[in-house]
Amino acid sequence: MSVTDTDGGGDVVAGACPPLWLGVDVGGTNIKWGLVDDGGRVLLRDHLPTYADQPPSLAIHRVVAAIDARLATRNWRRSDVQGIGLATPGTMDIPSGMILEPPNLPGWRHFPVRDALADASGLPVAFANDANAAAFGEHWAGSGGKLDSLLLLTLGTGVGGGVLVHGRTLDGTHSYGGECGHIIIDPDPNARMCGCGRTGHLEAYASATALVKRCEEALASGRSSSLGRTTLDPAGLSALAIGQAAAAGDGLARELVLDTALYLGIGLASLIHVLDPAIVLLGGAMDFGGESSPLGREFLEKIRREVGLRVFPDLAGKTTIRFASLGGDAGFIGAAGIARAASLGGSGLPHVRQG
Ligand SMILES: [Zn+2]
Repeated sequence: MSVTDTDGGGDVVAGACPPLWLGVDVGGTNIKWGLVDDGGRVLLRDHLPTYADQPPSLAIHRVVAAIDARLATRNWRRSDVQGIGLATPGTMDIPSGMILEPPNLPGWRHFPVRDALADASGLPVAFANDANAAAFGEHWAGSGGKLDSLLLLTLGTGVGGGVLVHGRTLDGTHSYGGECGHIIIDPDPNARMCGCGRTGHLEAYASATALVKRCEEALASGRSSSLGRTTLDPAGLSALAIGQAAAAGDGLARELVLDTALYLGIGLASLIHVLDPAIVLLGGAMDFGGESSPLGREFLEKIRREVGLRVFPDLAGKTTIRFASLGGDAGFIGAAGIARAASLGGSGLPHVRQG
């Protein structure tokens, strides 16, 4: 499924397949949104700053105003849209449409975000966890290839997890379903501390934050590396810089990147045994260049190899592992897809509030 970038003003109206859906993906820095047709193709995309310390009601009204303004440039109106999918980070209560205590949205605590958007837009709104929405997006329009049993890990500041089982997002009983970054890969009492405050979690080993921390520790212990000089500038050491050093042949950087693949392979072995997905996708900014780079391919191959060492051989052989393809668009595309699926009447899909 191709995604058409119309930010440059290209006109894709003739190719659009109605009905149309909106997806809104709220993050700590930006709110991304897009207009998506019934085949999962992006017709419009845009983003605006979240201003996470400000009241969320202001952000909701800014989003609706921005949507109206962009739709008008294509001679569309809000009434041409069938529904909205809204994705936010947790913590959240999906059935009641509440965002609870999101770490990156300090001004949004205990806010009825789904109903606020329905009231402001006059449209039905389906509500989803952002990582599960991204998984749905990859399933619908990305490298998930329409497979309806899918696991997505997003590698960035943290390790996000999105899960689809039989075409539905795994929301769980308490809206914590799919928190794959917080499975335990190290039971030692002195295991690494995770961003969530618990120890031994996958995120504490395999996120970009963890990669930088492991690199800092190695440099502090006297390991030699071209990255050593960046310790003079704390801002210079990043997952990107480590990846670049690894791609240039730095031994320590390569070791750290491949250790990340090892940890992911260990974590995925447990997740694959529990979920038995048709496909595992790796998304997020930390892909070391992805399929187009030798390091990215080596990273992926190492993950596959480590999974192969730990998963039932028959199951490992049947489980595809590859990079995701939608990048930062996956969340809003998936949110739009969830709104569409809810409209089609799938029972058990995220609760919808009519506008
Ligand atoms: Zn954790």
